[in-house]
Amino acid sequence: MSDLPAALSLREVGPRDGLQNEDPVPTEAKVALINALSGTGVGRIEAVSFVHPKAIPQMADADAVWSGIDRNAAVRYSALVPNLRGAQRALDAGFTEIEAVVSASDTHNRKNVNRSTAESLDDIAALLALAHERGATCQVIVSTAFGCPYEGEVPPERVHWVVDRALADGADGISYGDTTGMATPSRVTQLVGETRMRHPELALNLHFHNTRGTGLANVLAALQLGVSDFDASVGGLGGCPYAPGATGNIATEELVHMVEDMGVATGIDLDAMIAAAAEAEQLVGRKLPSQVLRAGPRTRRTPLDDPVTGY
Ligand code: ZN
Repeated sequence: MSDLPAALSLREVGPRDGLQNEDPVPTEAKVALINALSGTGVGRIEAVSFVHPKAIPQMADADAVWSGIDRNAAVRYSALVPNLRGAQRALDAGFTEIEAVVSASDTHNRKNVNRSTAESLDDIAALLALAHERGATCQVIVSTAFGCPYEGEVPPERVHWVVDRALADGADGISYGDTTGMATPSRVTQLVGETRMRHPELALNLHFHNTRGTGLANVLAALQLGVSDFDASVGGLGGCPYAPGATGNIATEELVHMVEDMGVATGIDLDAMIAAAAEAEQLVGRKLPSQVLRAGPRTRRTPLDDPVTGY
């Protein structure tokens, strides 16, 4: 365990990736959730996305959410943008960190934005130039990096091609999105290992989904390669396992619970994050998948009168 990073930088994506995949919730409730998350000690929060309201009605109030929250100076807030127009809106709203997204697989990219991956990379080059001109940074998220729901396997070479192009165009960081939970520890070791060989200085962020139950195992595989930047979603917000199109983000409190016990610091107050997860559960009105939300930290005591059965 001695080679693991001493500390992680976690990005809480529940307010964006989570709520984007839930039934719409009131603006005030989003503001309250972001304010609660801002007080947990998490260092980064993906607050909103600036997408066309007809495409994703859940994010139509991005400006109101952003102006409504109590910004914590210790937190870096970011916005996801699907295109140049979204980037302009985010920058006009005052964001200094944005994320652009492109799928490694052509089919997934066409389904999302009706463009090939190469065409989207051209768009992102213009977006990066705009962000830099306005004094902002832009991370490029490579979705379907570990597999595509339409095409199946995505060859690592394809991902490297996207990364090389984005970095050549000035990307400030790269994030790999495991969009439909197709990553496994061996695939993480291969793709992330190759990426670190090719770009040793790259700030690589990883975004895992727990769709097939390998989310935290994937995190562990990446930790062993020295990756220290991860996304997670409070309560596992954003994907009902029984719903079509479910995303199933890994739960922030489960990630914190695991790595802190391994001596890897997150800066996050676990009890505060569990409380925020309970709030998120109230907000969406359904049981969220986080098991640490259900069971509490591993040292939570059972009252003596309660039976504990089993071996
Ligand atoms: Zn996600």
